[in-house]
Amino acid sequence: MTTISGNCLCGAVTYSLSEPPLHVAQCHCTDCQKYSGTGHATNAAFAAQAFTVTGPLTTYTSRADSGKDISRSFCTVCGSPICSVVEALPGMIVVPAGSMQDPSLVTPQLAFFTSRAPKWDKAMDGIPAFPEMPPA
Ligand SMILES: [Zn+2]
Ligand SMILES: [Zn+2]
Repeated sequence: MTTISGNCLCGAVTYSLSEPPLHVAQCHCTDCQKYSGTGHATNAAFAAQAFTVTGPLTTYTSRADSGKDISRSFCTVCGSPICSVVEALPGMIVVPAGSMQDPSLVTPQLAFFTSRAPKWDKAMDGIPAFPEMPPA
């Protein structure tokens, strides 16, 4: 069984995932740019029950382009993003790949909102890239 583990920058928050991701996407939306501090977030979605987290988290909820809420959780000590609960993805938890101890364990399968990417930030070669949200 795949186990993926991860932690925040300061180490106060750690997590593990007992199942492989359901899907992995590079998202270049402006919210992900703000959230990640760079040109996109690489978001891996897992079954929520596969996720175990310990440590101090604070959560910020905002409205996504979909019209549904996203609740993003961060380490209260160092501010690293740890996980998001996305109303449009019931039963799932979304984890930013960069927080994983080995981010290479996941591979982006597609890219979203590439029309909003800064000119220096490109979708990975060889994956479908959608200028906005891909059709469901
Ligand atoms: Zn931390
Ligand atoms: Zn996004």
